[in-house]
Formats: sequence, C-alpha cells, structure tokens
Amino acid sequence: MAAKWKGNYFDGKSAASQKVEIQHVSEGILIEFADGRMRVWRHYEFRLKQDRPQGPIRLEYGEFPPEIIEVEDPSFREGLKERHFKRPRYLSLWLALLAVLLIPSIIYWGIPGASGWFARFVPVSVEEQLGNYVVNELFPDRRICQADAGRKALDEMVMRLTTEESEYNFKVEVVDSDLVNAIAFPGGNILIFRGLLEKSPSADALAGVLAHEMQHILHRHGTENLLSQTALSGIFRLLSGEAGSLAKTLFDGVHILSILKYTRQLEEEADESALMLLIKSGVDPAAMIKMFQVLSKHSSPFPEAISTHPDMSSRLERLETLIQQEPEFKSRNVLTETSWESLQNICQS
Ligand SMILES: [Zn+2]
Repeated sequence: MAAKWKGNYFDGKSAASQKVEIQHVSEGILIEFADGRMRVWRHYEFRLKQDRPQGPIRLEYGEFPPEIIEVEDPSFREGLKERHFKRPRYLSLWLALLAVLLIPSIIYWGIPGASGWFARFVPVSVEEQLGNYVVNELFPDRRICQADAGRKALDEMVMRLTTEESEYNFKVEVVDSDLVNAIAFPGGNILIFRGLLEKSPSADALAGVLAHEMQHILHRHGTENLLSQTALSGIFRLLSGEAGSLAKTLFDGVHILSILKYTRQLEEEADESALMLLIKSGVDPAAMIKMFQVLSKHSSPFPEAISTHPDMSSRLERLETLIQQEPEFKSRNVLTETSWESLQNICQS
C-alpha cells in the first residue's frame, strides 16, 4: 500500500483546517478528506512554498487566496521531486516563448521559406475550404461557361495534365468574362477567363497556362502567402484543420488578393515545374512561351502575375533555356482542332 502522510487542509476561505491524508500518485498528489472525498492536485497545478528550512511543508493551489495543505513530516518532501514543480513550469514557459517569439519571427523575418515549410502541413481539405472561400469572396456572381462539348474538351485537357499521385482534385472553371487571365486558388480551384481562351493561340498554349496554375496549387503558394501574413492564431487554426467555419475570421487583417500575389521566386518555381509537367505529359512547352508573350500584352486587375510580371522577358529567356535542355522531346497535341474549337466556344450555350 502506498505511503500516506497526514496533513492539514485550508480551503482559502476560512481559517479552520481539516485533517487530510495525502499520497503521491503519478499525476501529482491524492488528497483524502475525513468525509471520504478525494481530490487530485496535478503536479503543475500546485506550488511548493517552504520559506523556512524547518517547519511544515506547504503546498498552495489556485489563485489568491489559495487552498493550502501543510504537512509536518519532512519525508513527504522527497516524493515531491523537483521536476514536479520546476519542469512543467519551465517547459510551458519555453513553449510559450517558442510560440510567442520564435514562430512569428521565423515566418516574418527569419529563415526564408519558413511559411512554405509550414504550408506543407496544412491538410488539403483545409486548403479546399480556404480556396472556396476566396473564390466566392472575389467572384461571387461569376457566370460559369459549360457548353457540353467545351466542358468535355476542358476535362480532357485537365486529365492530360493530372498525374495519378496528385492529392489534389483540380476543379477548373471557365468564367464568362473578358479578362485575359487565369487564377489558381488553394486546394484545387482554377478559374480561366473567357478572354484568355479567346487570346490563346492554341490548345497547347492554354495547357501551358493551366500547368502553371496547377503548380501554384501543388506547391501550395496561396496557402504559403496566407501563412506569411496571418496572425499566429491563424497558423495554428490552419495546421489544426480548424479553418473551415473560421475562414472569414482567418482573413481578418489580410488583404484577400494578397494571397494570390506571388513573389518572383514562387512564379519561377511554378514556371519550372509547369515546364517539367508539360514535358512529362508530352505537351509542347514552346507553346507556353508563346502564350506568355501574348499575355504580357494584356494587363489584368488581378494580381496573378502571368500577365503583369515585371520580368517577363527574363522569365521567357529562362524558360527557353530550360526547353533547350530537352532536345529529344516529342510532343502530341493536347486537343484535336475540333475539341479546341469547342473549348474556345464553351461560353456560347
Ligand atoms: Zn503564376
């Protein structure tokens, strides 16, 4: 049977004391009252107060005025290993410091790419909820074009670019709008605007833009942007999968468009991976370059940088160099002429 010590309990409200018996248990101490009630004080819930080397061992519990237990027998103290008092307090202090100082400083000023590193741990289902929220905030009244033949052609193009191991479910929509642009949202939504379809020189060229947008999703660039701007609480919510119903509050203080504004580094990453994807899928990557040349002539009110990138010429050069490294490459058209025509007319229904 576990050793028990006799002590006096003060409830913190009256001066009267009650006789109790105390034993050490793994969580802390177990207190037995004369009337048979029992309580456990966990290690981290009580404080050891013994200001004098002699005299009773005094434990305090709770805010002022605290509940107090006094034990006369000095051997009781041996069971109260130092760690019972110190480690949890220092540990929680360290965790608090880490949370309050370290994580935001890493994200805001520290190791580049830290928010990208965190972004990898956000569940895809959470990214989908975020993406849906952003799409509906930015384009609540969009008219989605879905003439049957055009929709079929678009699905064919998306299939061609989707690798089997992808954990994302791409949802590509054509929006009836003159904008010459395409935008990707976290989780898999991609909007292509009719203006872009009309200006695309070929299906392969459009596939190039699509591949680029898919890479923003696969590399979680939007989520990364959000993480780099959101408050710490937002980061924890994202990582813990709580974002769904809280999407709105998550964006407090964050300009919603800014999560779609990618740095040059992220654009280059999307370009390069898109190029690899096109090559892997047997799509002529030179068409993507032609497309970027077309797009550089059109400005867009939206920040996705395809059309507004300040370094378009250096970006094109870079892509051309990468393509030259694949001289053996053989391409197949993404769509037949008929299918491409259907896709371009997807809004005419
Ligand atoms: Zn981009």
